[in-house]
Amino acid sequence: MPKDVILQEDIEHETCPLCHKKSLILTERETEVPYFGKVYIFSMTCSNCKYHKADIESIEQKDPVKYEFKISSEDDMKVRVVKSSEATVKLPHLATISPGPAAQGYVTNIEGILNRVKYQIEAAREMEEGEEDKKKAKNLLKKILNITWGKEKQKIIIEDPSGNSAIISDKAIKSPLKVKGIQ
Ligand SMILES: [Zn+2]
Repeated sequence: MPKDVILQEDIEHETCPLCHKKSLILTERETEVPYFGKVYIFSMTCSNCKYHKADIESIEQKDPVKYEFKISSEDDMKVRVVKSSEATVKLPHLATISPGPAAQGYVTNIEGILNRVKYQIEAAREMEEGEEDKKKAKNLLKKILNITWGKEKQKIIIEDPSGNSAIISDKAIKSPLKVKGIQ
């Protein structure tokens, strides 16, 4: 158990929503994210079909939020990011991580976000037939590498109507997110 975990509960032999075998492990953890507060981390992992779903929820009620951050150095890779499954992560001209039932929630850092985008692009490249699209993917991967090394600047925007996301840095610009139907 990592030292920042306050409480952890595992429930084994639950029914998997995908393969319906009793091989699902539910994990609920309570942990403290510095400068954000206490959070619950839920995860479901099936040992049979490898189904995995994770999400994060702040214990304290939060308002819809938008964070903007400019990645400009190698040090920025270590900046903590809390991302719930309801968040949209935008990396303009690079990629977007969309919310939805298949979206995951997690605590990571800028490097972790870039790695996920990298895997997404690599997986998409494997499926591509056209040379043009393969070349485009190659250029995006090169761009990510340059951002990781602090050679290229990149803006990152996180919008979360649930308020359960954050970019934890003095350089991050936090503002209220305008949600349709809410004043
Ligand atoms: Zn399963």
